[in-house]
Amino acid sequence: MKKVNKYTRAGNNGKEIYCSECNAKNKVYHFSWSAITCGNCKGMIDKYKWLLEPKKLTLNKYFNEYKSTIMQKIHDAFNPEKKKIEWDNEYKPNIKIQSTVKPDHKPTFNEISEHIHKQYNKLK
Ligand SMILES: [Zn+2]
Repeated sequence: MKKVNKYTRAGNNGKEIYCSECNAKNKVYHFSWSAITCGNCKGMIDKYKWLLEPKKLTLNKYFNEYKSTIMQKIHDAFNPEKKKIEWDNEYKPNIKIQSTVKPDHKPTFNEISEHIHKQYNKLK
């Protein structure tokens, strides 16, 4: 992982650096500072903690985060007295989806795919 060091220069066009906390891209035009605030997470990041390339987040990391969220929710569900559960799996219909058509005859495969294709083109 390449990090900013005392030899890092911004050049004439500035330099893109990546927050070590949230991985967001920030641009700087000089390095005469010891810490700056990330425009994304608002964290105060020390100069030498900034990265010169984004962290590569592996699928595994996403999966582990997802898994721990799920495990926490399961834990909360079985321990309702400790924590008030806020259900977030409420069904919200997708406004983009039109009501289905009711053909007066049994549509052929081609008619169905044509209809789907037309609807799809409208959404694009
Ligand atoms: Zn950040």
